[in-house]
Amino acid sequence: MAKPAQLLLQYQRLVDRERALRDDIERIESQLQSDPEVAALEERAAAAQAQQEATAARVRESDKAREDHRTRLRSREKELMSGRIRNPTELTQMSEEVQHMKSRFVEEEEAELQLMEEADAADEALKAVTAELEAARARAAGEAPALRAELDEMRTELARVEAEKAEVWTEVSPSAQRAFTRQRVQPAVAEVRNNQCTACRVTVTSRGLQMLRQGDEIVNCENCGRILVLA
Ligand SMILES: [Zn+2]
Repeated sequence: MAKPAQLLLQYQRLVDRERALRDDIERIESQLQSDPEVAALEERAAAAQAQQEATAARVRESDKAREDHRTRLRSREKELMSGRIRNPTELTQMSEEVQHMKSRFVEEEEAELQLMEEADAADEALKAVTAELEAARARAAGEAPALRAELDEMRTELARVEAEKAEVWTEVSPSAQRAFTRQRVQPAVAEVRNNQCTACRVTVTSRGLQMLRQGDEIVNCENCGRILVLA
C-alpha cells in the first residue's frame, strides 16, 4: 500500500502532466486552425493589394487629367495658329497661356513618371508578399498531417492521464485528500532532499523526518506549509 504523501505527489505530477498536455493540444489545435505565419502574411497581402489598387487608380486619374490638358493645349495652339486673332495684346496673352500650359504639361509628365514608378513598386511588393504567402501556405499544409498525428497521440495520452489521475485519487485517504485540496501554496506537495523541503529550502525537523519515514501521516513543511514527501 502506497503512503498517502507519495500518492499525493503522484497525483500532483499527473495534474501537471494533464495541464501541460491540454496547453499543447490547445496550441496545436489553434495552429492547425490558423497558422500564425500564414495569418500574418494574409494581412500583409491584403495591405499590399490595397496599396497596389490605390496607386493604379492614381495612375489612371493622372492619365485622364493629362489627356484633357493635352486636348486643351492642342485646341489653344490651333487657335493661335489659325490667324483669326489679330489683336496683338490678345495674341500675346494667348501665346503666354500656351507656354504656361506646355510647361505645366511637362511637370505633369514628370509627376506621372514618379507615380508609375510607385505603381511598379506596389506591383512588385504585392507579387513578393503573394509568393511568401503561397510558400507559407504550402509549408503549413505540409506540416498539418504530422501535427494532426501529434494531436491524436496527445489526446490518447490525455485520456490515459485523466484515467490514471482519477484512479490515484481514489487510493488517497479522505484525510490526505482534504489536506491536498485545502493546500493554498502551489504546488501543494514538495519533496524532501538532504533533509530540506525542496520548495522553500528550509530544513525539516528531526521529528518531521521521523514521521515522514513512518509515512502514515501527512507532514507539512513548518516554513511553507506544503505537504512533504521523502524523495
Ligand atoms: Zn517548505
